[in-house]
Amino acid sequence: MYDVVVVGAGFAGSVLARKAAEANRKVLVIEKRAHIGGNAYDEYQQDGILIHKYGPHIFHTNERKVWDFISRFTEWYLYEHKVLAAIEGTRVPIPFNFNTLYELFPSTMANRIESLLLETFEFGSKIPILQLKRTSDKELKNLAEYIYRYVFLGYTVKQWGCKPEELDENVTARIPIHLSRDNRYFQDQYQGLPQSGYTKMFEKMLDHKNIHIMLNTPLHDVIQINHETKQAYLLDSITLNCLIYTGKIDEFFNYKFGSLPYRSLDFTFETLPMEHYQELGQVNYPNNDDFTRITEYKYLTGQNNNNVTTISKEYPVAHKDGFNTPYYPIPKQANSELLERYSKEALQYKSVHFIGRLAEYKYYNMDTVVSKALNLSETLFK
Ligand code: FAD
Repeated sequence: MYDVVVVGAGFAGSVLARKAAEANRKVLVIEKRAHIGGNAYDEYQQDGILIHKYGPHIFHTNERKVWDFISRFTEWYLYEHKVLAAIEGTRVPIPFNFNTLYELFPSTMANRIESLLLETFEFGSKIPILQLKRTSDKELKNLAEYIYRYVFLGYTVKQWGCKPEELDENVTARIPIHLSRDNRYFQDQYQGLPQSGYTKMFEKMLDHKNIHIMLNTPLHDVIQINHETKQAYLLDSITLNCLIYTGKIDEFFNYKFGSLPYRSLDFTFETLPMEHYQELGQVNYPNNDDFTRITEYKYLTGQNNNNVTTISKEYPVAHKDGFNTPYYPIPKQANSELLERYSKEALQYKSVHFIGRLAEYKYYNMDTVVSKALNLSETLFK
């Protein structure tokens, strides 16, 4: 009946479904939510503002292949994301760059630090603050300490619910200072949001005569996994030769080695009777308040509506299965070890392909997932 069954209609599942359909395979997509699009799903609020239900999503990539593929299903609103952080009573651009330096410190001091940085590193480079801390210069060490304390520490504790020392070292190692005057959050060559929204883009991607979609359908409603023979079946009897699985890897194995933990988020959306609430699309609150950031969607989508605007506040919370969405895999050693056990097990299921943020228990940007899905499709659907 079906050559390929895809579990999950996010980026991973939808790209693979489309590629399979174009290679003449009959495809069934099952999705447990009431909608397609995964976490990139967007919808219109009552007042007509387009919002991202699962948090703000900005598409950015350096891969031409990825951009070209997605561009088949949408026009783009060419938006470049910029972020401010509320620090010590003022709002400054982040990632930390020379503009931030001059806004936070007296100009003579900022001038001296800028020169020091450019004597040591190349203009335009991104230096992890851990590297900055290791330099012999006292003033640069102090700068690294300042950024760690005011930009990173509070945000991280809120985001992960633990101290940075409890997370994998590379989480801290990654926060960069950008030696430039470029306030853009991403420097990728291609950046934007689908002109008519992500959901419309997914609708087009999945609109193919060879694709059949079942919403509100969790894996176990239609698929049985025999863990002894390592084989998946559709409706109890039809052997599946190609199952693309983009759900949680631990769930696939009935949590037999234990649960892989996630961090979740609560979003509160407010529609306000004003043209704009804040200066730009995203303001981060690293130090005070319980939320981490406020997003104002009109900036991201380019929507013109002078009367109202919608913002979301984002509160990191613990993940509870069945109650909230598993958003972020938690980067800790013990979790990598648990993942390793599941990944080894997964290799034995020859007709099942695990792909995406939940199946690989890894934070991926959308473009990486698209790229991985395109690569997998090249080996599966020649
Ligand atoms: P998902 O989008 O999660 O799709 C998986 C789908 O599978 C879901 O629809 C789910 O309901 C379904 N599913 C799961 N289990 C089952 C099951 N058992 N049965 C049936 N269906 C099932 N990336 C960017 O590039 N830019 C950004 O600005 C950005 N912002 C982000 C903001 C937040 C708050 C978060 C959490 C992530 C952000 N990302 C961003 C990352 C982006 O969300 C992911 O790259 C993308 O969602 C990955 O797609 P996916 O298909 O792997 O997973």
